[in-house]
This record gives sequence, structure tokens and C-alpha cells, in this order.
Amino acid sequence: MMELKGKKVLVVGLGKSGLAAALFLRHQGAQVTVSDVRSAEALAKDIPALLEEGIMVEAGGHGLLTFRRQDLIVVSPGVPLDTPELVQARNFGRPVIGELELAARFLKGKTLAITGSNGKTTTTSLVGEILEEAGFPTLVGGNIGVPVIALINQSTPDTWSVLEVSSFQLESTEQFHPQIAVILNITPDHLDRHGTFENYALAKERIFAAQTPDDFLVLNAENVRAAAAASRSDARVYWFSLERFVPQGAWVEAGHVVFRSSKDAPTKSIIPLHSIPLKGEHNVENVLAAVCAARLAGAPADAIRRAIEKFKAVEHRLEYVATLNGVEFFNDSKATNVDATAKAIASFSTGIHLILGGKDKNSDYTQLSQLLRQRVRAVYTIGSAAAKIESQLRGVVPLQSCDTLDKAVREAAAAARPGDVVLLAPACSSFDQFESYEHRGRVFKELVNEWRGVTGLPVAVERSRTS
Ligand code: ADP
Repeated sequence: MMELKGKKVLVVGLGKSGLAAALFLRHQGAQVTVSDVRSAEALAKDIPALLEEGIMVEAGGHGLLTFRRQDLIVVSPGVPLDTPELVQARNFGRPVIGELELAARFLKGKTLAITGSNGKTTTTSLVGEILEEAGFPTLVGGNIGVPVIALINQSTPDTWSVLEVSSFQLESTEQFHPQIAVILNITPDHLDRHGTFENYALAKERIFAAQTPDDFLVLNAENVRAAAAASRSDARVYWFSLERFVPQGAWVEAGHVVFRSSKDAPTKSIIPLHSIPLKGEHNVENVLAAVCAARLAGAPADAIRRAIEKFKAVEHRLEYVATLNGVEFFNDSKATNVDATAKAIASFSTGIHLILGGKDKNSDYTQLSQLLRQRVRAVYTIGSAAAKIESQLRGVVPLQSCDTLDKAVREAAAAARPGDVVLLAPACSSFDQFESYEHRGRVFKELVNEWRGVTGLPVAVERSRTS
């Protein structure tokens, strides 16, 4: 643990975790300044609370001197580490760490951390529910909503903290040391920020950098880049696989998820596949990873089975919205990269009307070509990535430029026939037209409800269910 009393600490970026970090540091007795490039108006809702705590706020840009006078600089995950002020501060010998690293130095108990390009939130929530079902004192946080910093006060030496960690958070870790680390998959994402796929993969690999042979690393045997991490890890490696049995870990055998703790141990059935209440094979992968991690944490098989049976798909992750005139509508607004969209398409056999687009992340949409040819009747493009998507997919599948989500839902719904699916799985981030992927998903659900009126069905504010 580090001493913070009287230290000058700068928090860069006033997002949810930056705010939590600033308050935590202040409560530890540090002299805290927060600096954000956004204007004072944009930060207005958080400034009074900070000032009241005696935290200084610099809005509308970073002053060079602000960075030099500090004993410690804490960076929010949204702020690139190559921001010139940060580079310079490091050159001047100032320690620069992320919120996750700061939190990890104070969090009590054991940590089970989950990363991956896709499936983090789903798997983290599932593992959290399993450990709770097993009766373990469990906290869930990280990228999933509650910043890790905010868990510190509730943590005890018996706690399991189940953390969703992103490449942005991992990039700036040093001592972060989970007893169990999971890498679900590594597929191209965020190339706009990490530059190359290899840089992005290396950021994810920091999840096990501080692990020792007493710890566990859970890897996806079917994901080439994630599996490659095994040779660089000091931890005991466990595997999960959708395709084949593994020496130690979880896989699918005779319609059941099974686990064994070593190659000489008996194989134990955990749950039949038909009892998994989630759509798509990618979710079976998430279940396999969760089973493996939860077994390693000591959860009994029957608690694992009960928690999986009760589990509900997280909102905006291949979420069933409605069936109108025989057409099913699914909201996968969280499919913000090409691989997640591929998995969404693969979850339906045919008859898909797919809404694609938003803000491009330097992605290659041609990766979808084969699946589009096989299963998708038409693609409806929206947002600033539309022109790029259309130029990459022309000739592969019928394309319709819609510009807005509103138009895309109407066009797709009007074209769909009974038995078809209208799927929002846009392969892009949302920030060109929406505040967030949650906002985009909510608007989609409202538009589907409006379409219900157009079809003559009674408009209802129905609770979404998962199928
Ligand atoms: P993350 O937190 O990593 O973004 P989520 O659970 O929120 O993961 O899912 C993100 C998107 O990826 C959703 O569109 C979801 O349907 C899809 N997805 C979930 N699990 C996987 C997986 N194992 N592989 C590929 N895509 C997945």
C-alpha cells in the first residue's frame, strides 16, 4: 500500500472512474487536482462536489505546470497514454498510473479479473453471480459500471473482487495482480487508439504480467492470439474450448459443459447446453470461461449450475426486444466491433436484416462478407461509417443507405417477412449520433415499439425478455 497523505496527486480525465479516484485520493489525505480537456460547462455537474471536498479542478485543457508539480499522476482509462503532457511528465520522472493500478494497491481480498475483446461484461456478471450463489463475499466492478476504486471500502480479506478490465485500463498497470485472470479472446478492436493489433494484444496481456506460479490464467484454446499468451505466462494455465477437450479446464462433451482440474482428474459435468438461457455459441464460450474461473475460485458445481440457469442476458447484448408480425427484433447495440457483429449474425441461421454503422474504429468490414452472403438478406447503413461500409460490402449483399437509425428500423421492418430477424449489431461505436451504445440501444427499442403501432399491434411499454 502506498502513503498518500499530503502527496500532490493529479487525476487526468474526469469520467466515472476519474471522479471516484479523485474522491478516494482526497479521503486518503492527498492534495488533489483534476484536469480535463472538456470545458467547465461540460463538467458542470461534477465540479461543485469536487470543490466542496477541497479538490482543485482544471477544465478546458491541461496546463504544463499542472503536470510538473505532482508526486503522482493518475490517468483515466479514456485518456491515451501518449497524450503529450503525460509523455512529458513521465520524462520528468513523475509516476503515471491508471485508476485500476491505484485501486489494486488498496483493494483487500482476492481478485478475479476478466479481459477480452468481447464478452467481458457478460462473463464478469456471470462469474459474479456464480460466486454469490456459492456464498462467497463477492464484489463486481471495473469497466462494468462501478469503478474498482469504489469497491475498496467494502472489500475485506475474504472478498472476491470480480473485475472487468479493458485494454485501456491494463495499459497503465504495474503491480495489478489477479489470483485468477481470464482472457476471453483477442480480436481486432480499438485500433484507432492502440495503433496496431499487436499493441492492443500486448495491453491485454498485462492482465497476467504480475502473476506467479501460485496464480491461474484462463485462456480460450480456440482464439489464436489469446492462446499464444500461454508461453509468456508464469501462472498455471487453464483452458476453455468450444471445439475440443483440453488438458485442464472446461469444454463441451456430449451436450454438456464439463470441467476437469487436471489431466488425471475425473471429468465433471456442470450443466447441459440446453439449460444455458443465452443465445449464440459465443455465449457458450462465455459460460465455459466462467465455469473454469469459478471452479478455480472454489465454487461448487451445483452453485455454478444454478447461477447459470438463472442468468439473464445483459441489456444491449443480443437482447430480444419483440416479435411483430412474425419478425423478431434483437438489440445488440454493444456489438461495437466486427467480431461481435460476426457472432451476432452467426446466432441466427438466415433471414437477417442487419443494421450496421456508427463511428468507424479503423475496422475491416470485409471480414463479415462470408456470413453476410450466407445469412443476411440486406444491410441497412447508418452514421458516419456508412460510406466506408458500403464501399467495402458492395456486391456482397443488398445495401440500403439509411443515415439514421430511425429510417433503418422502418426500412428493415417493412422489408422483413415472417420468420426474419431485424438485428441491430452495428460493428461501430455510437459516438457520431448517440451518447453511448446504451443510448443507441434504448432508441432502437423505442423505434421497435413505434413500429408496433405502425403494424396495428397495441403499443406497449413491455419489459424486454431474453430468449
Ligand atoms: P464486452 O464487455 O467485452 O464488450 P459484452 O458482454 O458487453 O462484452 O458483449 C459485447 C458484444 O460482444 C455484444 O455484442 C455481445 O453479443 C458480443 N459477445 C459476447 N460474448 C462474446 C464472445 N465470447 N465472442 C464474441 N462476441 C461476444
